[in-house]
Amino acid sequence: MRIENHKIPGIWYGQSSNLGARRQNPPVIIVLHYTTGWNGAASRDWLMGAAGGSSNRGSSAHVVIDRDGTAWQIAPFNRTAWHAGPSRYGTLEGINAHSIGIEFVNAGWLKPNGLGDFVDAYGKRFTGRALKKAGGYQMAPHARVGSGDFAWPLYPEAQLATGLDLVHALVGHYPIRAIVSHEEIDTRGWKTDPGPAFPMERFRVTLGEAADREPLAVVTAGRLNLRGGPGTQFEKVVPPGTLLRGTRLKIMNRDGDWAFVTPQNPDGREGAVTGWVHAAYIAPVIAA
Ligand SMILES: [Zn+2]
Repeated sequence: MRIENHKIPGIWYGQSSNLGARRQNPPVIIVLHYTTGWNGAASRDWLMGAAGGSSNRGSSAHVVIDRDGTAWQIAPFNRTAWHAGPSRYGTLEGINAHSIGIEFVNAGWLKPNGLGDFVDAYGKRFTGRALKKAGGYQMAPHARVGSGDFAWPLYPEAQLATGLDLVHALVGHYPIRAIVSHEEIDTRGWKTDPGPAFPMERFRVTLGEAADREPLAVVTAGRLNLRGGPGTQFEKVVPPGTLLRGTRLKIMNRDGDWAFVTPQNPDGREGAVTGWVHAAYIAPVIAA
């Protein structure tokens, strides 16, 4: 796939009525979703709003990818689509304005009904056999849905291949800094897509060296220990010992949950100290 004038030549194009303004800056984030549905054409029409003959006036996306790998583009990449809702990634808020939204046709979680069957988000009942026939599923818990395990329909290889092809083209064309799930940017804590059955890592690796171009982060904890190594068993680097909320860091390296950083001085210049911090307490700084 390639991108020409913010569209993908050769794939179906129809423009959603639910779009925001032309962008001032290029997109820097790709957000991956599931449609919460089984029927790709129906989801595409829904997300096109009036242009798709639907009553939906509040949501859209850039591309919808069906389970057989068919892709439909419903917004040019230089227009804002409405897929992320209230959202934040690192220091960047309102992710719609900075991102490209891709919807994968997938029903999302189904709840076991205790009788061996599963019920989808619309109350429709499926046997395990019917789910297997529809492409298989995996059982996994998800705190946002409830307790216990839920069935998550798998993503067919043909669908993933189209998705990877598209993401690869987008990363090559725009200054993309992050590939994220809707779940991880949703500030209301409702969203679960694209869910545990989605191979997020296969998509994130398409960023390759582009991920290394994102070296800035900010401390989100009130006080964060700066340590001599990647673990709590390492002593604090004194001074400064702890870093205050808001301190900017240059990320030099990563080791599991830990990041090797150079804190910036309050004047914004790079400091002389280096050390390790737990990455759960820092957030990336992405320039829009
Ligand atoms: Zn979503």
